[in-house]
Amino acid sequence: MNKQNWTGFSKKTILQRIEHLEKLHFLTNSSSETLYQHRTLPLETADQMVENVLTTYNLPYALAPDFLVDGKTYQLPMVTEEPSVVAAASYAAKIIKRSGGFQTTIQNRQMIGQVALYQVPDLEQAKKDILANKEHLLQTANAAHPSIVKRGGGACDLRLDFVGNDPTFLVVYLIVDTKEAMGANIINTMMEALTLDLEQLSGGKSLMAILSNYATESLVTAQCTIDLRYLSRNKDEALELGQKMALASQLAQVDVYRASTHNKGIFNGIDALVLATGNDWRAIEAGGHAYACRNGQYQGLSSWHLDEQQHQIIGQLTLPMPIATKGGSIGLNPNVALSFDLLGQPDAKTLARLIVSLGLAQNFAALKALTSSGIQAGHMKLQAKSLALLAGASEKEVPLLVPQLLKSPHLNLETAQELLEKIRQ
Ligand code: NDP
Repeated sequence: MNKQNWTGFSKKTILQRIEHLEKLHFLTNSSSETLYQHRTLPLETADQMVENVLTTYNLPYALAPDFLVDGKTYQLPMVTEEPSVVAAASYAAKIIKRSGGFQTTIQNRQMIGQVALYQVPDLEQAKKDILANKEHLLQTANAAHPSIVKRGGGACDLRLDFVGNDPTFLVVYLIVDTKEAMGANIINTMMEALTLDLEQLSGGKSLMAILSNYATESLVTAQCTIDLRYLSRNKDEALELGQKMALASQLAQVDVYRASTHNKGIFNGIDALVLATGNDWRAIEAGGHAYACRNGQYQGLSSWHLDEQQHQIIGQLTLPMPIATKGGSIGLNPNVALSFDLLGQPDAKTLARLIVSLGLAQNFAALKALTSSGIQAGHMKLQAKSLALLAGASEKEVPLLVPQLLKSPHLNLETAQELLEKIRQ
């Protein structure tokens, strides 16, 4: 493989970027065609995917290159409409690579389904009877979806809990290895297959049988240790910045208003890669935000602290990441196939590691900007570009309009239109 040099990637034209990827052998013939021919989701396919289709909807598809994760470099495709997200991720990736990259751990990769039973006459007896029949119940679940067992997965454990005030519910949780799939359909089929047995064993009624998006058996952690000298050339300034970033991480633990925004920044990266790989981003968001509440209060998902010698800042992010490489809409969209090519055809566990690393990178960039120059300096330039485009500026007019917009006291569409008119006179 050619030596990878990503310097100036952002300054290239779209065509030059594609040629760069070709030179580095990151594209299959089919992916090259997808890019050169702007292939997107065919309308006929879209019409089969959801109801009442009128057209398809496009978003920018970008690349954040050179992420060093567990000793290997990856190029991460990102689908986002928000300016500055890709730039921030790329910047963070560069700094974190210099400091040794991301190290990840994955605790498990199993999904959880639940059957909620109510009007159970004797909760303790029901619990005993269900647990005594655990093996039979696991077999019933697996018989309902035998193909996942053939793939080496399937239902592997069953747990119970009483929930609610009285308690109202006896909830049966099924733990399932869904291999490369997210597993919603696999699990929903299994849970529905269990309801009759569970009603008979408990003497109660089944309220619902469904996958849980709180995927606590699919936790993934990404960590990075960044030398403070990469925060600023000035040693004192670098230390102060590191300390402020650690404080910002503390703030997100104790102030819900900040925690929400802190986590939104993390999901700026996560959602972009989840979308690019055709995964269900609502599922990932739901699991992540539920995990942020695991201590009884909504908190920041990442943490940053300085090492004892105060030479390095250490960041860590853990969250449920039940991502898939098979199933759902993954095989339907040519842009998703392109993403998997760019990522080097990762399996679900590797993809989960990459996504959490990207979330941590995004968080690093946001905290560094917030605690130093503030995010508006960088943001405003990109905001001005968006406004210029919105005002109707052409490719040639944008570079003329943006500097004028940045100098103007009111950065809004009206100003952009007025200035564009003057440029055109
Ligand atoms: P699918 O049912 O689309 O796909 C899973 C299937 O892919 C498996 O049953 C298996 O079928 C096949 N498959 C092929 N190769 C593999 C492999 N290596 N490992 C595992 N399976 C493989 O998707 P999911 O069950 O994963 O469900 C995801 C979809 O469900 C998403 O579209 C999501 O939006 C939606 N959904 C989400 C919900 C939620 O999050 N709460 C609720 C309901 C739906 P086979 O073995 O037979 O070939």
